[in-house]
Amino acid sequence: MTAHRITVAGVAVDTRHWIGGARVASAATFTDVSPVDGAALGEIARGTATEAEAAVAAAQEAFPGWAATPRAERARILHAIADGVEKRIEDLAIVETTDNGALLRSHRRGVMPRVAHNFRFFADWLLTLEHEDFETRGHTNHVSWDPAGPCVLITPWNAPLMLATWKIAPALAAGNTVVLKPAEWTPLTASLLADIAHEAGLPAGVFNIVQGYGAEAGSALVAHPDVRRISFTGSVPTAKTIAAAAAAHLVPTSFELGGKSPLLVFGDADLDLAVDLAVEQYDNAGQVCLAATRLLVESSVAEEFTRRFIAKAARLRQGDPRDEATDIGPNIHPRQLEKIDGFVRRALAAGARAVIGGHREDGQYYAPTLLTDVAQDSEIVQEEVFGPVLTLQTFDTEEEAVRLANDTRFGLAATVATGDQERAERVTGQLVAGTVWVNCFFVRDLQAPFGGSRESGVGREGGTWSFDFYCDLKNTVTSPKGWRDH
Ligand code: NAD
Repeated sequence: MTAHRITVAGVAVDTRHWIGGARVASAATFTDVSPVDGAALGEIARGTATEAEAAVAAAQEAFPGWAATPRAERARILHAIADGVEKRIEDLAIVETTDNGALLRSHRRGVMPRVAHNFRFFADWLLTLEHEDFETRGHTNHVSWDPAGPCVLITPWNAPLMLATWKIAPALAAGNTVVLKPAEWTPLTASLLADIAHEAGLPAGVFNIVQGYGAEAGSALVAHPDVRRISFTGSVPTAKTIAAAAAAHLVPTSFELGGKSPLLVFGDADLDLAVDLAVEQYDNAGQVCLAATRLLVESSVAEEFTRRFIAKAARLRQGDPRDEATDIGPNIHPRQLEKIDGFVRRALAAGARAVIGGHREDGQYYAPTLLTDVAQDSEIVQEEVFGPVLTLQTFDTEEEAVRLANDTRFGLAATVATGDQERAERVTGQLVAGTVWVNCFFVRDLQAPFGGSRESGVGREGGTWSFDFYCDLKNTVTSPKGWRDH
């Protein structure tokens, strides 16, 4: 094996860029480390501005051919990519788990099948997109969905392939070409996807990958004048930097960002269900943008809720994410662990009480934590921790619950636990959030718009909304005769 061809849990992965249908080495590399055991996995291409330039040039060159490819053929290739993903679910699952520490059982049975579905869904949706025709004083208007051009897609580490393919699939379906920059902490599954897409017959240059750091490869890509769309999932500060770069060329951007979502538990809720919903927020060691990290519980049931929550959380098994029995794996990186611990230390110093957890565990693990006695304007209530840390506050009235829920600069999601349908309708109507779940969590249909309000994002992904973003809508007006004859 050469240095750029590594083996991860028995799976061969190429760590170079993928540009114009070929592997491209970088002069410099960085080391990818597994959060599972701290092992160095290999040296990854560390993209430069020159390599970013080459990737956009490849995407630009491939664009006319792919844009002109009949929709049915584009859809066929996307389905072939989905077939390839399905054939390699085991490989993708174990490599993703080794790279980001999320549970192998989730990758195997939930995430990777959904990656395949992302391609199938947008391939099928493409075929249903109607070109609209209507008449104006004898002239026909023909509204068409034209692909926009090279798209830069920048993605985070918490659900690497899942979130990347939410963008790649509709961008390619619409007839665009793509340059993906995966997060530097999780570069591996994107590289496997390049192999799969190549084998599925995706033409050279239609899908490109530049590996590397945000401040180097990422910033060069988003500043490139030939890029026609930028879609980003990640943190708010990075989004603001990208927005400024995109503004220089007036490039449309889509941002899926952070959150500090509430779970409202009313006194009339099925309390066991509410506790299940709350404990679920420790999924992926709390590294989920949608996580309802603020538990808002009606005072009348707060004591009982807390008692049942403690009992349920105590049964969670923390450990090796490759083990089927594990519920909570490691956090992604020592730096992330420091960040989580810093938030908790400061909250405790400010008077918060740790009902459970509140400390690090051995290795790269953080104990599932529930903090009470937290002030609404405190850092721990207002800032995204991105770790297994929840706060619990109580309320006495519906108005107070809604006020607390909305008192945040974010607006990604909200969850409501109640047994009263009328209350559910009243409350959901007032919540500021892109997605609201009632008595459930994490249910997501690709037809539905997904995204955040306020600082949680700009734009929506899913169904028609994705095509709206990745297409330039064109209206062609034709006169059946010379226009002066009318
Ligand atoms: P991040 O913003 O640090 O990095 C995300 C990506 O941006 C990485 O690929 C990084 O290399 C790149 N990047 C960094 N600086 C850049 C720059 N100047 N120019 C171009 N690219 C740059 O975020 P993260 O820590 O990887 O991810 C965690 C964040 O993502 C959390 O805030 C989380 O809530 C959010 N997130 C949101 C969603 C959603 O759908 N709303 C989903 C998952 C994660």
